[in-house]
Amino acid sequence: MEFKVSELEKEPIEFDLQLGPGAVDFGEEAEQVGPLAASGLAEVIHEHRGPKEIVADIRLRGRFAGEFMAPCARCVEPVQLPLEAEYDLIFRPLGADGGAPERSISAQETEIGYYQKDSLLLEDVLREQVLLSLPVRTLCKADCKGLCPRCGKNRNLEACTCEQGPTDLRWEALEGLRSRIKTE
Ligand SMILES: [Zn+2]
Ligand SMILES: [Zn+2]
Repeated sequence: MEFKVSELEKEPIEFDLQLGPGAVDFGEEAEQVGPLAASGLAEVIHEHRGPKEIVADIRLRGRFAGEFMAPCARCVEPVQLPLEAEYDLIFRPLGADGGAPERSISAQETEIGYYQKDSLLLEDVLREQVLLSLPVRTLCKADCKGLCPRCGKNRNLEACTCEQGPTDLRWEALEGLRSRIKTE
């Protein structure tokens, strides 16, 4: 769904829709597994910056709710995640803050984004808001045993015969360090 400034100038637009999986690309961090409900209100707010300079901002307020899957941080099994959140965002025309980056808007705790040309895509906003609402670390259960760092077996499902010496944890930390160095 696209919000055009020229249309919002005439009247605010209320929306209440369901987006099927695939309508928004969430990348590899999360998979949508059911309808994503999104509702809210889009309107134009005019910022008067001087006698002749008026900036048309888009304010988007609303909420979303949907079912998602994300891989467990330890065993990489998919975990079902119900996600929902509210948002209240301001989008300025791209380039409007070129000469005055410190300008602030009166509405407190409102985040500032930018829209390009003269429109804003709801799908882009939802992608960002859904990804922001993901837990820092997704776990299938609090005591997930994870994958064996030696043989790769899921230790929640079967015990492997690898030795579990006292250096095990340090090896895991070293492995993590090594893979981080490799990817940088
Ligand atoms: Zn797990
Ligand atoms: Zn093992």
